[in-house]
Amino acid sequence: MKVAVVKESAPGERRVALVPETVPRLVQAGLQVLVERGAGDGAWFPDSAYADAGATIVSTEDLYRDADVVLTVTRPDDSAIGRLRAGQAVIGMLAPLVDPQFARVLAERGVTAISLDGLPRTLSRAQGMDALTSQANVAGYKAALVAAEEYGRFFPLLITAAGTARPAKLLVLGTGVAGLQAIGTARRLGAQVSGYDVRPASKGEVESLGATFLELASAVSAVGEGGYARELTAEERDAQQAELAAHIARQDVIITTAQVPGRRPPLLVTADAVAAMSPGSVIVDMGSSPLGGNVAGSEPGRTVVTSNGVTIIGAENLAASVPTASSNAYSRNISALLLHLVGGSADDPASRTLAVDTTDEIQAGVIVAHGGELVHPAVAKLLDAAEPASGQPGSGQPGSGPPANGHAASEQAGGEDADGEPAANQRS
Ligand code: NAD
Repeated sequence: MKVAVVKESAPGERRVALVPETVPRLVQAGLQVLVERGAGDGAWFPDSAYADAGATIVSTEDLYRDADVVLTVTRPDDSAIGRLRAGQAVIGMLAPLVDPQFARVLAERGVTAISLDGLPRTLSRAQGMDALTSQANVAGYKAALVAAEEYGRFFPLLITAAGTARPAKLLVLGTGVAGLQAIGTARRLGAQVSGYDVRPASKGEVESLGATFLELASAVSAVGEGGYARELTAEERDAQQAELAAHIARQDVIITTAQVPGRRPPLLVTADAVAAMSPGSVIVDMGSSPLGGNVAGSEPGRTVVTSNGVTIIGAENLAASVPTASSNAYSRNISALLLHLVGGSADDPASRTLAVDTTDEIQAGVIVAHGGELVHPAVAKLLDAAEPASGQPGSGQPGSGPPANGHAASEQAGGEDADGEPAANQRS
């Protein structure tokens, strides 16, 4: 079985799906590893390191001709899709709930599509495969650094002969994986950090990192399926926004990470809240998307300075900007999933093939297309909603679009309907 690592093609994508360190593990398991020339360059892994680890460096043409399984970080571009053939498999963060049409194209081409974003994250035996978590960790770390770089003052308390600088006040809104890592990093930089989330369990997690948990009088428990948050009602949202605004005005730096599976990211920092902040304040919006993020006025991939001097950074794909760390983690995730999917025995390399079995809980979450069929119910449901009996795509039905982020956990776990707002972005 030939497993091939592609050179990522998305703009700004510097990660690579497999790092040299992981190659021997696959070779020992009886697999052959092919690496597209230059695949690891963006993450500082030269071809020679892959060759030394036991991989074969190949051209793009040879890779798609020979591969049984193609490993990617993000979804293949149009040219790569054109090269994939029936019987091949592709494994990556394919975001089929963001773009179910893409999943259908792969199914129609007879390609087995396997997406790490569908992994059941609370299953302990799947934790080593959890790329959403590993990449959110990297992104949360980088968010704190991006904020510190943009901020015109110090994060820590500094007492010098030239005067005393007070520590920056930093608030993290949304304290899941990325938010907790942002808190830890900002604390290590010396900022005075607080955190807020709608899941009550997050209070203890925030406090365990030495930060203060922001208690709102209007707080409701908004625990949804699979450990995620649920979407707030309009009344809950209005109360939250109003109460948060007073706290936001007192902060120097805000980092927002809030997501709700299957929904557009919630707006936590309103235009009025931004207007009440002091000049020089910085906001990093990790939920930024073309349809809006956690912060009014944020634009994905852009830095905007408001008329009152607040810098709003629409943070996109931060994990790709720490490419070596994120690739190292992703490589462990994808190789663990691959080895879970491979049948046969390492002693008999010829017996090594993908053993698709959607009765397995992990496989049911990650396998999107196989044998010419779309096999993932949540993706199929999205397509059905987008194309009613008339067969016309884009029925325009409210809520018929795909979800706003790449999470599939609640859908695959049989939880929340994936009937949120139209596709926004796929966070890493
Ligand atoms: P996420 O990216 O879906 O969302 C980020 C955070 O935003 C979450 O903490 C969520 O509660 C919060 N949020 C949503 N709406 C909000 C609002 N209106 N106001 C404030 N905050 C809001 O979350 P995630 O980082 O992927 O993690 C979600 C949960 O899954 C956490 O409980 C995490 O610990 C859990 N998790 C568990 C495992 C595991 O068991 N192995 C692995 C990963 C994540």
